[in-house]
Amino acid sequence: MTYPSLHMMIDGERVSGGDRRTHAVVDPSTAETLAELPLATPADLDRALDAAQRGFRRWRNSTPHERAAVLQGAARLMLERQDEIARIATMEQGKTLAEAKVEVHMTVGLFNFYAGEVFRLYGRALVRPAGQRSTVTKEPVGPVAAFAPWNFPIGNPGRKFGAPIAAGCSVIMKAAEETPASALAVLQCLLDAGLPGDVAQAVFGVPDEVSRHLLGSPIIRKLSFTGSTTVGKHLARLAAEDMKRTTMELGGHGPVLVFNDADIDQALAVMVTSKYRNAGQVCVSPTRFIVQEDVFERFRDGFVDRAQKILVGDGLNPASMMGPMANPRRPEAMDRLIGDAKRCGARLHVGGTQIGNRGFFYQPSVLSEVPLDALIMNEEPFGPVALINPFASEEAMIAEANRLPYGLAAYAWTRDAKRQRHIAREIETGMLGINTTMIGGADSPFGGVKWSGHGAEDGPEGVEACLVTKAVHEG
Ligand code: NAD
Repeated sequence: MTYPSLHMMIDGERVSGGDRRTHAVVDPSTAETLAELPLATPADLDRALDAAQRGFRRWRNSTPHERAAVLQGAARLMLERQDEIARIATMEQGKTLAEAKVEVHMTVGLFNFYAGEVFRLYGRALVRPAGQRSTVTKEPVGPVAAFAPWNFPIGNPGRKFGAPIAAGCSVIMKAAEETPASALAVLQCLLDAGLPGDVAQAVFGVPDEVSRHLLGSPIIRKLSFTGSTTVGKHLARLAAEDMKRTTMELGGHGPVLVFNDADIDQALAVMVTSKYRNAGQVCVSPTRFIVQEDVFERFRDGFVDRAQKILVGDGLNPASMMGPMANPRRPEAMDRLIGDAKRCGARLHVGGTQIGNRGFFYQPSVLSEVPLDALIMNEEPFGPVALINPFASEEAMIAEANRLPYGLAAYAWTRDAKRQRHIAREIETGMLGINTTMIGGADSPFGGVKWSGHGAEDGPEGVEACLVTKAVHEG
């Protein structure tokens, strides 16, 4: 299969060519150009805004059956097209085909879940005397501007489209310029399932130009962003100028508490796989391993042993267990952060270098005894590196887990029920996995606290985030 030609999708039309600037989309396993992506002009964005306004007026009046039919139809089409969509994602993002297929299935599950949720956007009637009536209704917030990053090229656009469509909003999405074809493939399934072209659109461009243009328009009533905390704060400020609603899925620095009563073999089997999934470019990636000192060496050595056995290679090769990193910025960041950690006195057990001189491959890496002031203990590494440190007590472990301003995902390994409940109460996080890494699901809110953002995607909360309440009182 060849990589598709690229376009934007504005008001149901494929837009490309002319004197538009372009962005070269590259294959991370070779660094070679796959295709040129057209970038939006201000006129393109204005056209998309006008269409979104019209699309909103139309879609807010759609029946739940219409919304459900679109979401279920798109889910069916995604399943039919899963091989093609997964292959596109692997070509432009690097992850293994198996990982890309998981993304397709997550999105199918989410669309089907939302197809049920559209019938449950209930309001309520308040208790009033005869002749009076007071109701509280939920209404779609309005046109949404959504920004989806490159790490989950299918799943992120799925979330950004799914919730507004279920709620009765229109949406203009700017997916990452590095992974446009996956996002377009998701949108095409929705359009082929009957979604009007002014309800969901896809634009690309210079990120700051597009976000300033869309967020500067009063037509847009909500910002939904997934990406780094730095960019998230910048966009939240832009949204605040017009008091737009926001859902912010930002960075994390996932703490993993491993206690001496845990099933260490099970913890290793699960966490090593989870750490190197998508080459560590996952906002909920387990990153800081906070290990009780009496099991520290066993855990660290077991981790290193397993990390050494991970086969890194082209994501299209079924034997590969980890693909390349998605873009040249990531291996550079790994070198910078691991180099700094070593200078600070950390021990590097495995990895720490790029692989080959073609593409963006990086070795699965493990550092231990990393000083807390090393950059990597404070900045989201977003790559295939585990940081494993010993701690004496439960209280010290909890304090380390809560030390950073992030609070997206946290994990704990312990068989002690009392300790599990204590951890669940004390860790400042949006999602916690106890003896598991399964912290998400179509029916479960996905989101963080503190600098990891606010609001949630998935679950009833995902649709709720695209609704506003209205109270109507009749005397
Ligand atoms: P970045 O921070 O510049 O970009 C992150 C994402 O935001 C990209 O998708 C980018 O296209 C988008 N973006 C950047 N500036 C924007 C703007 N002004 N308006 C709208 N969108 C904008 O850098 P990057 O190199 O792509 O990623 C670096 C860091 O971002 C990672 O280290 C990681 O911390 C974070 N990140 C987080 C997620 C996540 O799932 N939360 C995903 C991707 C990247």
